[in-house]
Amino acid sequence: MDCKEVMANMSCYINGDGSQELRKALTEHVADCRRCGVIFDTTGQMLGIVRDAEPFLVPLAVSARLYSRLERVFSDT
Ligand SMILES: [Zn+2]
Repeated sequence: MDCKEVMANMSCYINGDGSQELRKALTEHVADCRRCGVIFDTTGQMLGIVRDAEPFLVPLAVSARLYSRLERVFSDT
C-alpha cells in the first residue's frame, strides 16, 4: 500500500469499517511512514477522535474539509 492508497482508505480507518486486512495494511503503513503518521495524528487531533470516546461519528462536512486538507498535504511534497 502506498501513501495515496492510505489517503484513499483513511475514511475506512477513521470510521472503523473496511476489512481487517485493509485496516492492518493501513496500520502497518502508518507505523512505517512518517508522513502518513503525521497525517493520522493531525487528523485524529482535528477530529478529536484519537483517544476520546465516540470515535465513529465523523460528520460529512468534517470529512470533506479533511480530505481537501489532506490533498494539500500530499501535493506539497
Ligand atoms: Zn505513507
